[in-house]
Amino acid sequence: MHQGKKGLNTICTHVGEVEDKQFKGAISPLYMSSSYAFEDVDVKRYPRYFNTPNQEALCKKVAALEHAEAGLIFGSGMAAVSTSLMAFLGAGDHVVLQNALYGGTFNLVNEEFEKYGIEYSFTDGLRPEDFEAKIKANTRVIYVETPSNPLLKITDLNAIAKIAKRHNLVSMIDNTFASPVNQNPIDFGIDIIIHSATKYMGGHSDICAGAVATTQAYIERIFHLAKNLGGSLSDQTVWLLERSMKTMGLRVKAQNENAQHMAEYLHGHSDIAAVYYPGLPSHPDYELAKSQMHGFGGMLSFELKETFDASAFQKSLKLIKSSMSLAGVESTVLSPTQTSHALMGAEERDRQGIKDGLIRFSVGIEEPKDLIFDIEQALQSVRSKQTVSTH
Ligand SMILES: *Cc1c(COP(=O)(O)O)cnc(C)c1O
Repeated sequence: MHQGKKGLNTICTHVGEVEDKQFKGAISPLYMSSSYAFEDVDVKRYPRYFNTPNQEALCKKVAALEHAEAGLIFGSGMAAVSTSLMAFLGAGDHVVLQNALYGGTFNLVNEEFEKYGIEYSFTDGLRPEDFEAKIKANTRVIYVETPSNPLLKITDLNAIAKIAKRHNLVSMIDNTFASPVNQNPIDFGIDIIIHSATKYMGGHSDICAGAVATTQAYIERIFHLAKNLGGSLSDQTVWLLERSMKTMGLRVKAQNENAQHMAEYLHGHSDIAAVYYPGLPSHPDYELAKSQMHGFGGMLSFELKETFDASAFQKSLKLIKSSMSLAGVESTVLSPTQTSHALMGAEERDRQGIKDGLIRFSVGIEEPKDLIFDIEQALQSVRSKQTVSTH
């Protein structure tokens, strides 16, 4: 019998199942108990200890998907981000974070760290030397996010892991945008992998959850804080997330293909000023993305030519909805300036190249021809309104 490591879709479908010993059902039974009789004094099962049957099983799937020893599931992506960071940072410690970060992580650091005495620096860019330049004697953690939000810039995982080892730092990545289907940072030497499972792991816009994958020793350290902070995920949602992850490989590959298709269509379009997608050879980090990703992902951004009102364009879309979240099977768009990056301020947005007309596009699994039709009718609608108003 073949004994090798299981492939992606086999892990998605099978690893971390709860066996239905009683009825031999095909799917994991859902155990809703918040109280379990002691088997022996070492096993104290309790939802906030992250060790109910469904929680424990799903952690195995997360670990297998990220090529890690162990995993942990949280009540949200931010619970995973905050618990991981705080588990390795205390008063007097310093963390280096990349400047292009998910808005919630940016707010966590800016609004909370000072009162815990945690020092932090954001990089000026995403090159390895930008990270190295911010390291100090008390730096403990280096934190990256690639591809970045919303401009899909790529950080060099190999280089970051080397810097972390050289300076004895714990390296962490928010791997949400890539998903474990497209990127496994542990293979490049990154220590801790964090996901908002609300996004590609859930994939149907009906779950809020987070996940972490790393070594057994680091999971124990993160768990130690996690049980005190209390950010565990309810078993009902754990069960739904397990069900959702069975199709993650299929969904994300379809989204990769659609995003590539849409990026190429937009790239050649006379009404579009710029397209940001790591799968386009014109993307400045295309070669780097190719060297560390299995697929380029389902997220892209684009700018309409200045003659177009970006906000009117978004309102004219019919199939593609404007939405705060991302990564569902349905395509969505948002304006980073008005939503996800509104708190950042115009100056910082400008420095990072986030223009007011930028539109972030989370590409779903619909037929590309229908997405193109929707974009064309929206452009046409904006064009005709603008023509009318100038006469
Ligand atoms: C959504 C998101 C988060 C936060 O996840 P929540 O589940 O909303 O708490 C973190 N990082 C990235 C990249 C995200 O897209």
